[in-house]
Amino acid sequence: MPRRKCSNPKEAKVYLVGSGIASLASAVYLIRDAGVSGENIHVLEQDSVAGGALDGGGDPESGFVIRGGRMHEEHFVCYWDLLSHIPSYDDPAVSVKDESFEFSSRYVSHAQARLLRGGKRIDLFSFGLSLKDQADLLKLSLNAEKSLDNLRIQDWFGEEFFDTNFWTLWSTMFAFQKWSSVAAMRRYMRRFIHLLDGMPRLGGVMRTKYNQYHSVVIPLQRYLQQRGVHFHLRTRVVDIDFALSADRKTATALHTVDGNGVEQAIALGSNAYVFITNGSITESSDRGSWTEPPRLKDKSISGAWLLWEKIAQKDRAFGNPGVFSDRIDLQKWYSFTATLQDDTFHDYMEDFSGNLCGTGGLVTLTDSNWLMSIVIARQPHFPNQPPEVKVFWGYALFPDKEGNYVKKRMAACNGEEILEELWYHLRIQELMKPVVAAGKVNCIPVAMPFIDSLFMPCAKGDRPDVLPAGATNFAFLGQFAEVPDDCVFTVEYSVRCAQTAVYGLFDTDREVLPVYDSIYKPAVLIKALKAIAR
Ligand code: FAD
Repeated sequence: MPRRKCSNPKEAKVYLVGSGIASLASAVYLIRDAGVSGENIHVLEQDSVAGGALDGGGDPESGFVIRGGRMHEEHFVCYWDLLSHIPSYDDPAVSVKDESFEFSSRYVSHAQARLLRGGKRIDLFSFGLSLKDQADLLKLSLNAEKSLDNLRIQDWFGEEFFDTNFWTLWSTMFAFQKWSSVAAMRRYMRRFIHLLDGMPRLGGVMRTKYNQYHSVVIPLQRYLQQRGVHFHLRTRVVDIDFALSADRKTATALHTVDGNGVEQAIALGSNAYVFITNGSITESSDRGSWTEPPRLKDKSISGAWLLWEKIAQKDRAFGNPGVFSDRIDLQKWYSFTATLQDDTFHDYMEDFSGNLCGTGGLVTLTDSNWLMSIVIARQPHFPNQPPEVKVFWGYALFPDKEGNYVKKRMAACNGEEILEELWYHLRIQELMKPVVAAGKVNCIPVAMPFIDSLFMPCAKGDRPDVLPAGATNFAFLGQFAEVPDDCVFTVEYSVRCAQTAVYGLFDTDREVLPVYDSIYKPAVLIKALKAIAR
């Protein structure tokens, strides 16, 4: 039965659970394309700041922090569509999209020191794939997704595959683990095959001018607030009531708790809608400091996972959150942000790598037990970052391993110890000693227990559809809603959910933009085949 779309958008009330980009994009499309009044849109966010995973803050004195930095590409069609008419942070006359394209054309990504061993660059002419590895990769790309349910990458490839340059580049660029979903890897292969040839140089990677909180979230939030959208921060949705029958599912009430512990029930009238970002990869994150390691927290404090678990019990179509969130040991990794009141490190890295800051992207230390990588963004990375202050970001995929120099698990290290391990791998301990001794460095590590949860092996139905069959007034959004063909761990995926939800529930003259299909372009395929055979 075709879904009945909203007949009175002007009067419709929409509640958005969460303020990540999936929700912010939904609000933009609701106003712009569906004709919903901004004043009737309510964003309910448990945190005290909007943006979800797209964070970025701090100052030169206490240190800057981003949990992550985003690589984008030209064919993030939904994301760039969204940002094409959002005024940028610095200049209302320029859109975020235009600013990002201009910025990325000025600071072109062409990594010259992508992988290091023994402090030296690795020659990446060849991916190092055997004929068997090449055949396995191709077979995977051409295989039907449905046959890959619950399989891990290590179930598909031989052990030697994981020693290749290809795997090191791939796993550290996208944060895949051997035990991640092979179906997710297949989607990446197909979706980003046009980037394969340039992968050793991070060719085609685009960036925003600042971190994504300042370059993307603040502009979106401003745009929405100017149109009357209400942001209810420190407001957690703890349950949703549904009226469920064989062919219709309708959300009837939201239950919230605010920062003061005040509970509220919001009845959803006949023209009310709720969009739910179910699950989140940055839930239960914890910050350490220069002297303290971060703590590894669990689900018990996570609004996103607890809400999804509660509503998943009400209907099979609402997915299986435990598949994604029950194995913190397989999902967690740690990142860190360093703030330096000194140029030594950045000058050294520019000389050593041959990359101006902002053009090199990830530098991975392949012989680091933690498998540490760093990224030096174009400076300033924060609008309030003075010229004499420099920042960089890093992460490591194996935080439970002991460091090569610091004989501790990364998870047990404070910011100072993480940087000691980094200086050791880069062979710059002596160079950095006076800078550290002068107190000109800070480093804030962050534990992210659920960061790789979106790559957990899963089966059809574990992620609910954005619009489950029979859903009359609600939608699921974000990394744990099902969107055919697109890739999780991208902002594009979340914005695609927003388009799917809004255009599915409301009458608009727009359709969800198709996923870029480079896998069907012969010239792209030939180039990719040549690259994997090099
Ligand atoms: P989220 O950003 O997770 O937002 C969900 C929001 O909902 C949160 O604010 C949460 O607090 C709130 N919420 C959830 N439940 C409740 C509730 N019950 N009540 C109230 N509020 C609730 N993407 C790329 O495209 N390229 C990259 O290179 C890239 N790298 C990344 C690196 C890192 C370290 C991280 C963390 C992410 C990266 N991503 C990247 C992924 C991308 O940032 C995310 O996929 C995207 O931002 C998710 O947006 P979202 O709106 O779906 O969910």
